[in-house]
Amino acid sequence: SIDFKWIRDNRDAVASNIKIRNSSANLDLVLELYAKTLDAQKEVERLRGERNVVANKMKGKLEPLERQKLVQEGKNIKDSLVTLEEDLVKLIDELQQEAQCIPNMTHPDVPIGGEDCSAVRKMVGSARKFGFPVKDHVQIGKELDLFDFDAASEVSGSKFYYLKNEAVLLEMALINWTLSEVIKRGFTPLITPEIVRGSVVEKCGFQPRGTNTQVYSIEDSDQCLIGTAEIPVGGIHMDSILPNSSLPLKYIALSHCFRTEAGAAGLATRGLYRVHQFSKVEMFILCQPEDSDYHLEELIKIEEDLFSLLRLHFKTLDMASGDLGAPAYRKFDVEAWMPGLGRYGEISSASNCTDYQSRRLGIRYRPVDNASPNNSSSPKKGKGSTSPTQFVHTLNATACAVPRMIICILENYQQEDGSVIIPDPLRPFMGGLEVIAPRP
Ligand code: AMP
Repeated sequence: SIDFKWIRDNRDAVASNIKIRNSSANLDLVLELYAKTLDAQKEVERLRGERNVVANKMKGKLEPLERQKLVQEGKNIKDSLVTLEEDLVKLIDELQQEAQCIPNMTHPDVPIGGEDCSAVRKMVGSARKFGFPVKDHVQIGKELDLFDFDAASEVSGSKFYYLKNEAVLLEMALINWTLSEVIKRGFTPLITPEIVRGSVVEKCGFQPRGTNTQVYSIEDSDQCLIGTAEIPVGGIHMDSILPNSSLPLKYIALSHCFRTEAGAAGLATRGLYRVHQFSKVEMFILCQPEDSDYHLEELIKIEEDLFSLLRLHFKTLDMASGDLGAPAYRKFDVEAWMPGLGRYGEISSASNCTDYQSRRLGIRYRPVDNASPNNSSSPKKGKGSTSPTQFVHTLNATACAVPRMIICILENYQQEDGSVIIPDPLRPFMGGLEVIAPRP
């Protein structure tokens, strides 16, 4: 549940946050709808009270005329209530729709501004120097027979691909190696549903509807294809109160991701870089609010460890306020050097969404265990009473977005003879294969 009272009481802070987030949210409209909703709720309550008064009066002994008058009065109240309750449902729906656009608040250390204002937090390694002309992954893949973009374009459309030969083994190795590394660090593995209800997509802070949506909706149903495993993992504890002792909950989830890439015109799209369907291994943490800054650091450290083990050259960015999307309170992206494309490309993203998703998904925990019946030290906790619940914080981070990792490996590990060396950590997951060599 969105805290509208908080939004109303902190109007100036919310308005300036909307501004620095470069968000199109309409705060005035949200507050107007909220005020109308409160008025309508009060009126519904008043009419329900009147209806009860009339019903009680009817229980007594009455003259026939008086009874008839009361019956008519009751009917009038009931009719008004039906209309008002219908209006209230519509009003709440409109309020929720408008409020979806209001972004999370922003961590005080986030650089303010657009994409260009993101701050480099860390730089690891340096760009490999090549003594021969470098190829991009599309050219390398063509020569080694690793992809088929033409057939995919015929069968599915543009921005689809077949992986072939060692590229298939590379995808599987990347997934299995990443899972094994992250499971070692205490995360629970999941394979998630890839079709979810539109309402869950919305509660995670994504827009399943509209002309510019990133989400594929399934016709004649309320379901969508997931754009990221963050959505089904976020939904796994929907509408529940988690035991304090179970936190933090750490998941590592494998899924395919489906994205319309609406509005991607003009952005880098070559080869595997921006596709409609890809495999991704995603980390997700649910924790107590006071621990979420710490867990964001933990997630970014795991990402940096993984990319360092693969010996990639990369930089970590503290993303600027205008580039956070709606759910994140703070976000760190990693960009790796892609020599064939001749630039850095985003390979991962780690976000602290604080209580933005948990409020909408209804994921709470109870900070203090239930009061024992014999414990009367607190006057407020009578027999059988429980302490109040709070919303957990949620965080998500990419462990391995497969196509961009394939780009990094092919382009950074290419050799003059056209072959590609397999990074050491992946070899045991590829039957010991050390190199992808041109076929004779
Ligand atoms: P996001 O969930 O948008 O933060 O994306 C997570 C990661 O998935 C990004 O850092 C990219 O590495 C990768 N990614 C996002 N969109 C695509 C796409 N359309 N095609 C291939 N990889 C993508």
